[in-house]
Amino acid sequence: MKTIIRRTLQGWAVGAMSLGFAASVQAADLAENDGMNGTLWLQTSVEFKANALSTYRLAGLQLDAALADKSWTAVPGEQMGDYKAKPPAIILDVDETVLDNSVYQAWVVTQYKYYSGKTWGPFVNDVLSRPIPGSLDFIKMAHGKGVKIFYVTNRKAPLEDGTRKNLAKFGYPVDTSEDMVLTRGEKDEWKSSKKSPRRKHVAANYRVLMVFGDNFGDFVDGYKGSIAERQALYEKNDAMWGSKWYMIANPSYGSWESAAFGHNWRKPGAERRQMKHQALEAWAGVKK
Ligand SMILES: [Mg+2]
Repeated sequence: MKTIIRRTLQGWAVGAMSLGFAASVQAADLAENDGMNGTLWLQTSVEFKANALSTYRLAGLQLDAALADKSWTAVPGEQMGDYKAKPPAIILDVDETVLDNSVYQAWVVTQYKYYSGKTWGPFVNDVLSRPIPGSLDFIKMAHGKGVKIFYVTNRKAPLEDGTRKNLAKFGYPVDTSEDMVLTRGEKDEWKSSKKSPRRKHVAANYRVLMVFGDNFGDFVDGYKGSIAERQALYEKNDAMWGSKWYMIANPSYGSWESAAFGHNWRKPGAERRQMKHQALEAWAGVKK
């Protein structure tokens, strides 16, 4: 099977070169770019744009109800004490929730690279990310109704300045009365990628109406479980989706991918791919 795949790819590469594609394209590399279709979908499809726009518009339709119902909270695990009189806020992740970094992902795919902090930092500081469809209108509308906007991101603290510049570039509201951009490691207790300490920080002074993310970890800390554990946690929170929690589709990267290989990025690439392959539930095929 492997030989067939290799031969097919070699044939494709020769064909591609004759068509004038970059001669540096290696057949073996092409096989490992699992991010290509997801990134292509994020960057070029109207299907993605309509999906994200619909999600933000759905949230917009429910905002008045969330404001009016003082018992409404999107972070029941973190919203302690008598929160009903607290002023309203929403929490949004940044990457692939508010800002579209598909040009970075496209660079990863076309250069046969993986995500790395060494390249991600310079990308963030180039301030090239674009708005996720629907996010800007929704956030401006919520801000206009007096809702505080908190951006809770796993971008690390040294990248906060570049992140703020990118949000400002498109006019995303970022109040200056307090820190609204809560980065990873900005405080000692915020060193983890798990976001509940930062959600608690917001919930201490605000009633959190809605949470937005593209990754399960933007909503729950148990996002690095197995596929079955994630499924159970997803089902346990069934009532949250589409009212208090809003998920933006991200087929380019995320904990959904690493769940297939135990979130162990130290495994060799071929092993990770094999485990993803094994995680697929496939039809038996036409009966003979
Ligand atoms: Mg994200």
